[in-house]
Amino acid sequence: MRKSFICPTKYVQGEDEILNLGYFVKTFGASALLIAHPDDVTRVKDKLDDTATRFGVTFVESGFNGECSRPEIQRLKEIAVAQSCSCVIGLGGGKAIDTAKCVARGEALIIVPTIAATDAPTSHSAVIYTPEGAFEDYDYFKQSPSVVLVDTTVIARAPTRFLVSGMGDALSTYFEARATANSYSNVNAGLPCGYREGACGPAKGTNAALALATLCYRTLIKDGLKAKLACDLNMVTPALENIIEANILLSGLGFESGGLAGAHAIHDGLTILGGTHEYYHGEKVAFGTLAQLILENSPIEEIHEVLDFCLEVGLPVCLADIGVGNITEKELAAVAEKSCIAEESIHSMPFPIMAANVSSAIMVADKIGKDYKNRKACK
Ligand SMILES: [Zn+2]
Repeated sequence: MRKSFICPTKYVQGEDEILNLGYFVKTFGASALLIAHPDDVTRVKDKLDDTATRFGVTFVESGFNGECSRPEIQRLKEIAVAQSCSCVIGLGGGKAIDTAKCVARGEALIIVPTIAATDAPTSHSAVIYTPEGAFEDYDYFKQSPSVVLVDTTVIARAPTRFLVSGMGDALSTYFEARATANSYSNVNAGLPCGYREGACGPAKGTNAALALATLCYRTLIKDGLKAKLACDLNMVTPALENIIEANILLSGLGFESGGLAGAHAIHDGLTILGGTHEYYHGEKVAFGTLAQLILENSPIEEIHEVLDFCLEVGLPVCLADIGVGNITEKELAAVAEKSCIAEESIHSMPFPIMAANVSSAIMVADKIGKDYKNRKACK
């Protein structure tokens, strides 16, 4: 059986770690194209200035327009060439990170997440949008980022909702990797560069990836609440460090090399409902996870453990929690259809799935979540 595992060359996480960014730039050369939203640059300006001076490197600011679109990627590539940048830095949230991946195309790339809201920083893929912000396509690169550098002090000072949303994204990782392993489905780590040309073949997940995904889940259950409270106080504690590692590293390697399945597909389906647009990726994935557990008839103890965790940290457990107060039969059918299109990861579940199964799972997950929440509130 062909198996594959992919990860960044280096992952480093610590307090005030951005002070070492210049060191990593210097391993590539004298200057880096900095792709970051101006607000994020402002947040860490003192540290950037300090590390640039200390290591004698230059950050070429790009005036990133905030959208990971083809024209913006092209504009940034031209700046990198004109300024002879030795590497690319993606600093900030998902869009800046994905744009930097598209500009670097698997070459020298340093990713500096300033929030821990998703598991995108470590991956070798990006989501491309139109200049107006609509989904366009996925892109895959030959390598993961060279360095993922995480400054825990910066993440502790970001709004807690980002960290909690990251926990929602990380919550699905184990259950999706488990389903993918049970069905012997392919994982993203097996996708070659230029996968559309089919340069290489597909691959299954490794035991290593499933072990990381399992550790990711256990870490959330053990340290999730403590980390949320630390983030509320903008304090770095061992629990917060563990959750940052779970959200970014464990979940990142776990999803890419362990596989996606029901939770993310149901998330994708839910995005057609306007009400969900105010909610973050990880918040919707948390509800998608609950729906996957219903779909696969997971034991009630497991469902209760997930519900307890979600309520503890403040993740959604029912449709109303993600902006869907009521759903018509037609809307539900459309969500389920979208979750089940041929390219969706839902087909990595270890049994055949039809849209009607997904509709039922969503409604039962909603009811279980709602009832459980009400019961807890009455105690
Ligand atoms: Zn995700």
